Amino acid sequence: MSDNSDSADDTVGTDLDGDPVEAFETLGHELRLAVVEELAARQRASAWQPEPVSFADLRAAVGVADSGRFNYHLNELVGSYVEQTSEGYTLTPAGYEVSAAVLAGSHAGSEVGPVEGRLDHDCHICGATLRGHYDDGYLSILCPEDGYLFGNTVPPAAVAGRDIETVAAVAERDLRRTVEDAVDGVCPECYGGVETTLPADTLPRDTQQTEDEDAVPARFECDRCGLTFSSNAAGVVLDHPAVVAFHHDHGVDVRERSYVEVESATERVTSEDPPRTRVELELGDERLALTLDGDGEVLETERHGG
Ligand SMILES: [Zn+2]
Ligand SMILES: [Zn+2]
Repeated sequence: MSDNSDSADDTVGTDLDGDPVEAFETLGHELRLAVVEELAARQRASAWQPEPVSFADLRAAVGVADSGRFNYHLNELVGSYVEQTSEGYTLTPAGYEVSAAVLAGSHAGSEVGPVEGRLDHDCHICGATLRGHYDDGYLSILCPEDGYLFGNTVPPAAVAGRDIETVAAVAERDLRRTVEDAVDGVCPECYGGVETTLPADTLPRDTQQTEDEDAVPARFECDRCGLTFSSNAAGVVLDHPAVVAFHHDHGVDVRERSYVEVESATERVTSEDPPRTRVELELGDERLALTLDGDGEVLETERHGG
């Protein structure tokens, strides 16, 4: 077999022309959402090996007496959110995604909060104790002196019954995953391709963002949905093996290191053409320096001292 005949089969097609309005309209009925929820509950409880559910069982579980009416709504779901086989009905992956979104409560953003309180972190600029503020589905990390430092969306289900410190930790974890996905070239929203530009040619437009003169911004852009966002250069290398090992050697679990602390890394553009950025992290009396190219790739790492 030649290399050419091999490569013809290993790329998934790119036809994404389904009508999203139609797809959402399909769900615009209480009974249909109830069917999706019922099948999703069974899928969760079955360790991803759900048994198909018969028409009669499904109708009884959702609690609809009128068989004709139930049949009509169920059929509207088949082909997009529900799959029908000779043994019964199961959920499609798209159906499961819908149920996960409903579970996270992201459709009900304004019903939880506002909540505010102090966090167990100090501002990397002035040293003051930071505060977290959650309202309207958004967590902000604030410094009493420097104002807004950063924030992230957090679905209401992640907030209910939790204190502000935990909510801030959830926001940071999601932010970290978002940046890690982008650095890996995958859009956290739509799974399109993401390009990293370092240093970002333009500063982030977010006017709330505190000007931090020492930070070198990286910019991420999705080629499918157009999502753009930024991070500082240290955020780009947070899960690089050299950074993980450096922290581990100093008894620090990098997964528990707050973004607020990593922001204190030293960042500097060392060359314009080709673009090179140097990020230095310090733990104890040892320093780790990483040199990154214009795509955020690590070209070189060095450790000094220790
Ligand atoms: Zn501050
Ligand atoms: Zn995207």
